[in-house]
Amino acid sequence: MGQELGLLRELGFEDAYPPRRTQGVREGADDRSGRLHAATEGVREEAGDRSVRLQAVAVEAQSCTACRLCEQRNTVVFGDGDANADLMFVGEGPGYNEDRQGLPFVGRAGQLLNRIIRAIDLRREDVYITNVVKCRPPNNRDPQPDETAACRSFLDRQVELIEPRVVVALGRVAAQQLLQTRDSLGRLRGRWHEVGGVPVRVTYHPAFLLRDPSYKRAAWEDMQLVRDRLLDTAEDG
Ligand code: SF4
Repeated sequence: MGQELGLLRELGFEDAYPPRRTQGVREGADDRSGRLHAATEGVREEAGDRSVRLQAVAVEAQSCTACRLCEQRNTVVFGDGDANADLMFVGEGPGYNEDRQGLPFVGRAGQLLNRIIRAIDLRREDVYITNVVKCRPPNNRDPQPDETAACRSFLDRQVELIEPRVVVALGRVAAQQLLQTRDSLGRLRGRWHEVGGVPVRVTYHPAFLLRDPSYKRAAWEDMQLVRDRLLDTAEDG
């Protein structure tokens, strides 16, 4: 309990509380965490095959020139994490640091995302993280609809191969592009969506939370529902 509250305070959730369905049973936190990991263990034998197939798609992306974003990229940022992950995060696109390092969500926003992941009893290496476009938009502008459309097959194949139990869209751009809608973030938050048969939850982008920490509590409420959904589907097997 103390450790979790410490994490939540680190995130800025000063008045954080345990999720409704687990109030009073915080002593079971390690057990629940174990079940989340056990769900991953149960299909471990598939992971190698998934990883190989995902790697093949990543290799394909490395030479992609399907949209103008290929022109100024330093590297293709395909994705990072466990090919057998139960939880996938989708952001809008690589930034400067991501383009340099070839990894999604590095830098301060990435560090906050790591802490958010830890706050729901997982580690970064347990989840899979990617973006709707795999190449950096110049000057960190929003990816254009034709660019996300050109890149969509990579994202669809990532979801299809990994088969996460839940996808979290980080921020308005990722949510709109992932869900193919022009609805505002305010309309998209607070309910479940679906992509390829996978439940999708929309929350704030970590970079936005760094700019306006007053939204961290709302983001934490989103993530509690994600954690509960993961636990429910783990229990369902
Ligand atoms: S953003 Fe996607 S579609 Fe465009 S060049 Fe990069 S990998 Fe290809």
